[in-house]
Amino acid sequence: CGIVGYAGPRPTVRPSGPTGGEALAVVLEGLRRLEYRGYDSAGVAVVTEVEGAATGGGDQHELRVTKRAGRLARLVEALEAEPLPDAAAAIGHTRWATHGGPTDANAHPHTSADGRLAVIHNGIIENYAVLKAELVEQGVPFTSQTDTEVVAHLLGRAVAAGADLTTAMRQVCADLEGAFTLLAVHVDAPGTVVGARRNSPLVVGLGEGANYLGSDVAAFIGRTRSALELGQDQVATITATSVEVTGFDGAPVTPRAFTVDWDA
Ligand code: GLU
Repeated sequence: CGIVGYAGPRPTVRPSGPTGGEALAVVLEGLRRLEYRGYDSAGVAVVTEVEGAATGGGDQHELRVTKRAGRLARLVEALEAEPLPDAAAAIGHTRWATHGGPTDANAHPHTSADGRLAVIHNGIIENYAVLKAELVEQGVPFTSQTDTEVVAHLLGRAVAAGADLTTAMRQVCADLEGAFTLLAVHVDAPGTVVGARRNSPLVVGLGEGANYLGSDVAAFIGRTRSALELGQDQVATITATSVEVTGFDGAPVTPRAFTVDWDA
């Protein structure tokens, strides 16, 4: 229902706030501004540096997800009880359930079976049942009743097979039917958030030293008023200092730039 993504500088102090750091603060602020749309659950994911990770050998980054059915206040309580480290990339979602009841397990983000990728989704994946049946047959374990979880497994598998996150998003979206705005983060792409859209809106917020993604400009209006509107079947990849937009076919596109001139 409501979607926000943030890519900012590599954190130096962590955690710096009651719930996490700057990344979490940005995402929670965005989710509060999106509350007007209505929702039944909320959740966040960050890709953080592993505490004390030695150079060479093993993952330097890990994915952390916190999600709760109910009001945003329940998510904030959970984050205050167990703050997440600051991060260079974060995503947040408020859910309006269409497939699977409003439970903690069905709340977004959803993760791939290897725990390395998280995805959030607005809309409905119309062909999820066929995709889910194929994945279940291959032994992929499902942990929710949502249509969204198939996307997490498909994206995770594409990255594990060697695609970068942006390419994986293009490949997977080509096989999805219905309406979707998707954002994904992956342990192998710390500091990057990839978004995609079909029949559902996605906008990019252009900041200084940070960039944003949102289902509408309310997601980042407190941070920047400079924005790009994605067209149909497009993918956006943001880092703290770059924004790249392509079609599902990989061709570069120039999205419409605009300035938000209303007060939120
Ligand atoms: N269809 C998804 C679900 O039920 C996303 C709903 C939404 O747009 O929030 O989890």
